[in-house]
Amino acid sequence: AKGAGKNRYCFYSEEMGHLEVRKMELEKDLRLALDNDQFYLVYQPKWNARENLLAGWEALIRWKHPRLGMVSPGEFIPIAEETGMIVPMTRWTLLQACRQCKIWQDRGMHKPISVNLSVRLFQTGRLRAMIRHALEETGLHPRMLELEITESMVLHDIQDIIGQIESLREMGVRISMDDFGTGYSSIGLLDRIPLDALKLDRLFINNLETPTKRAVISAIILMAENLELEVIAEGVESREHVEFLMQLGCHVMQGYYYGRPMNTDEIEMWMRTVTP
Ligand code: C2E
Ligand code: CA
Ligand code: CA
Ligand code: CA
Repeated sequence: AKGAGKNRYCFYSEEMGHLEVRKMELEKDLRLALDNDQFYLVYQPKWNARENLLAGWEALIRWKHPRLGMVSPGEFIPIAEETGMIVPMTRWTLLQACRQCKIWQDRGMHKPISVNLSVRLFQTGRLRAMIRHALEETGLHPRMLELEITESMVLHDIQDIIGQIESLREMGVRISMDDFGTGYSSIGLLDRIPLDALKLDRLFINNLETPTKRAVISAIILMAENLELEVIAEGVESREHVEFLMQLGCHVMQGYYYGRPMNTDEIEMWMRTVTP
């Protein structure tokens, strides 16, 4: 019995040890990643299916770890948020995304770009300055930049965050609510936070089959229309998804069906497939 207990102890400690060691390692390496150019951005298209037109891009960060290879944002973003690394990381992302958008614009592709913002950024007191800097440094017009925020901000000083959002919108930057419908008090937030767009979480689109789910999406789209919010469906993976969403009055879509997140070389090839 003693032996079994000891083995069990070893089993758990090794398992936990493994995860903890990896997390500590990532945490340590994350601090160096920015200076060592290990991050890059990929861009995923948003597509207007009614007009059959590119609607814009979302910038998504990638980390190529020198030893571990690709680490997913699902793993390192939470660590970056915990450690505060998310702040310099987002400063870099904003600059890089604005720079790329300006390059495309100068080549005749006038499409806005969106950047994901962790709620952490609202607690720095420097968000507005950071965004102004990225726009001034790159010469990008504020109208071409969109910021994606999430409902998790209700857990923080929401009144302060609303003030910051208002100030960003006065600059001309657009604000959209990401992962809408997954979080805390979705509907209640909508008339408090000044928004330009809603992004329907991919979980909705994955469950279109039941009549109840359809009714819920349909109601959200109607409500968004009344609030004059644009609706973007995420996780659109098939022609059936597209047709269904169009029937409900949602025309802007993002997902593997139209295009995966791509680097700039891949985007050049992709552009040739969508523009005759
Ligand atoms: P998100 O903002 O909801 O981004 C969409 C995620 O869904 C991306 O995963 C994208 O690759 C994936 N996706 C897009 N279309 C489809 C589809 O049709 N089917 C499926 N199954 N997935 C699809 P990714 O790039 O791994 O990013 C995951 C999350 O990490 C993002 O979710 C976002 O919350 C966070 N993230 C990524 N880049 C940044 C960043 O620069 N800053 C911050 N703060 N968060 C970021
Ligand atoms: Ca997003
Ligand atoms: Ca999302
Ligand atoms: Ca998400």
